[in-house]
Formats: sequence, structure tokens, C-alpha cells
Amino acid sequence: MSTAGQVIRCKAAVAWESGKPLSIEEVEVAPPQKDEVRIKILFTSLCHTDVYFWDAKGQNPLFPRILGHEAGGIVESVGEGVTDLKPGDHVLPIFTGECKECPHCLSEESNMCDLLRINTDRGEMINDGKSRFSVNGKPIYHFLGTSTFSEYTVVHVGQVAKINPEAPLDKVCVLSCGMSTGFGATVNVAKPKKGQSVAIFGLGAVGLAAAEGARVSGASRIIGVDLNPSRFELAKNFGVTEFVNPKDHNKPVQEVIAEMTGGGVDRSVECTGSIQAMISAFECVHDGWGVAVLVGVPNKDDAFKTHPVNLLNERTLKGTFFGNYKPRTDIPAVVERYMNKELELDKFITHSVPFSEINKAFEYMLAGEGLRCVIRMDA
Ligand code: NAD
Ligand code: ZN
Repeated sequence: MSTAGQVIRCKAAVAWESGKPLSIEEVEVAPPQKDEVRIKILFTSLCHTDVYFWDAKGQNPLFPRILGHEAGGIVESVGEGVTDLKPGDHVLPIFTGECKECPHCLSEESNMCDLLRINTDRGEMINDGKSRFSVNGKPIYHFLGTSTFSEYTVVHVGQVAKINPEAPLDKVCVLSCGMSTGFGATVNVAKPKKGQSVAIFGLGAVGLAAAEGARVSGASRIIGVDLNPSRFELAKNFGVTEFVNPKDHNKPVQEVIAEMTGGGVDRSVECTGSIQAMISAFECVHDGWGVAVLVGVPNKDDAFKTHPVNLLNERTLKGTFFGNYKPRTDIPAVVERYMNKELELDKFITHSVPFSEINKAFEYMLAGEGLRCVIRMDA
């Protein structure tokens, strides 16, 4: 029996207030409206960005909310005007979109779509400013337009990448955010040349995907920087050749790296969300040609401070969302790189829990344990 056009009742993990465990509720999910699709989520994983907006200490609080943005699923039904997706398609919802019409989507350089670029403060669908989720008639806010901690979710068609149906969704779900973000930050934005040195700040899943990008680019040295020493053991399987813990030194880590490399690394990629690490990641690149790329999501009141001479001395500072990938145009090919065994994903998935134990995924991340925890919706 088709559910198209009808309200679906299903389970979702609702964040009622900041920092409190999510509670699994029966929610009502309205049918997709114009330019929207309703997706049955099969696997979702936890990214640090979810945790920032859940604890909401450094971000604008918006509750009750259904978090989640790294996921894989199958299209259940489509709204009016949707022609390039149909029920049964295998898809990855993506936190930043691609309308395919605005100046950004038409530019070769940008993935900052005017209509659908990441907006962390919006809790409703752009079509009518309303939520598609409710519990006993009370609306629940969306998150990043994806809200994947639900058995069914409604997403704008511009935020949906249609992928090879043979691709295992329990693995490629991590390409929906973290792995594409880190890998793309290196190969699309930092663009190390063969034989160059690369520093990676933050050895979580995003940082290690950035390291994977450095390895594939033929980097000669990959220097991993993290405050959590347990990350160093894990990082050895990702081509990281040297490790620096800022806590082990009584001078700024950028000076330690400059000494290790004869003046600085050729490229650096920051994947921590710490403003201090962002500044260090910039100041540790070599003058004359060094390029630093910021990926971590800062607190809302953070400000980046460095002496302008660091820029005058011909260092470049960049930043990127989603590794500069356009979600609909580029992500299907990234999935193919996994299918062709060019890109490894399995080693990023260190934990897996049934949906009923989703709060365990938060505990692992808060404890700095493992990389990605995949949440199985049907279990
Ligand atoms: P994670 O928590 O798994 O990893 C972050 C790592 O950074 C941890 O190992 C932590 O110990 C380390 N760290 C924290 N402060 C540090 C410091 N001052 N110096 C060195 N290391 C430090 O998180 P993740 O899921 O890998 O995400 C990493 C960051 O990327 C987060 O800020 C997340 O919000 C952000 N992110 C950005 C995008 C984007 O498109 N720009 C997409 C996804 C995630
Ligand atoms: Zn993410």
C-alpha cells in the first residue's frame, strides 16, 4: 500500500532541550511539498556538527529539533515539480544544497548555492516556512534541511544526491558529510602538490578524511595534530606519518611545526572547530606559498586574529563547506570512487548502534572514542 501523499507515523529521535539525551518519539511526517522529497532513512551517523547544535553552548539554541545530517536512504515519495528523483532511488541527503540555477551553482568554483547553502539557524522548510514534523500536533524543527535522526524525513530536492543503487548505504552514508568534507578540503581546496608536506589539525573522521586526501595527492609528510593522544594510534591507518600533541610542548604548535619542517608546512587543513587551532593551522604554513584551509565549525562568537604580516608574507587562508563539492553534481562520482576501491570508507566506521541506542553515539563522540558511529534505523 502506497504511503505517497499521506502523513507517515514513524519513530524519530527528538532533541527537546539542549544537552539532554534524545528521546525516541512517534512523530508525524507530512508529505513532501513542491520541490521536496520524502526519504526513508536506513543509516545515519553522528558528526560533530550535530553535537554542537545539540549542546548549543556556542550556537543559537533551537528546540525541539530533529538533528542528523549524515545519512543514506531511499526515496519514498516526491512532491510536485520533482522530475529527477523517483520513489526507490538510493540517495544521500546533504546539508548544503545545489539549485543548479543560481550564480554559485553555475560557477565552477563555488558550492555556496544562493537558495540552499548551509543554514544552521533555519528550522523550517524554505517552501512555506513550516515544519514537516510534529508530535501530537506540536511542530518540531528541522536541522540543516536534513533531520536524518528519523525513520522518514522531508528534504528539498536540491539537497539530495542520487547515487548508485549498488553502493552499500551503511558505508557510503558517511560520504553525506564527514568524509566528502575532509577529502574534498584537501583535494579540491588545499590542493597539495606531489611531494609536499601537509598538516592536519584534528584527527576525527573529518580530519582523517583530509589526511586520506593528502595521501592520495602524494604528500611526502602528513603531520597530524590533536589534543587527544588516543587519536594517534587510529591515525596510523590513514597515512599520517608524524604526530604532534600541542599539550606536549611549551611553545605554540605553529612554532613546533615550523621547526619540524624548516619554516612551515606547504598545506594545512583544520578540522577541529577550535578557534585556537584555526589560527595555528594558518600560522604553521610556509611563507611564500603555504595554503591553510579551515573546515571546523566555530562558535558563534569566535573571531580569527592574526598579524596581517602573516598574510603579506604570502600565506593564503581559505575555508570550505562540504569540501567544495556540489552535492548533486559531484557526490555520485565520489561514491563511484569508493565502489572502484580508490577511496576507503570502512575504516572510518568504528562503531554501530541500533536506533534505540542513538544516545550511545553521542557518548562515544563526547569521549573522543572512535571515528564514526553508524546508527541502524531498522534495528
Ligand atoms: P571529531 O570530534 O570527531 O574530531 C575533532 C578532533 O579535533 C578531535 O579528535 C579533537 O580532539 C580535536 N581537537 C579539538 N580541539 C583541538 C585543538 N585545539 N588542537 C588540536 N586538535 C583539537 O569531529 P568531526 O566530526 O571529525 O568534525 C571535525 C570538525 O569539522 C567539527 O568542527 C565539525 O563541526 C566540522 N565540520 C565541518 C564541515 C564543513 O563543511 N566545513 C562539515 C562537517 C564537519
Ligand atoms: Zn557533518
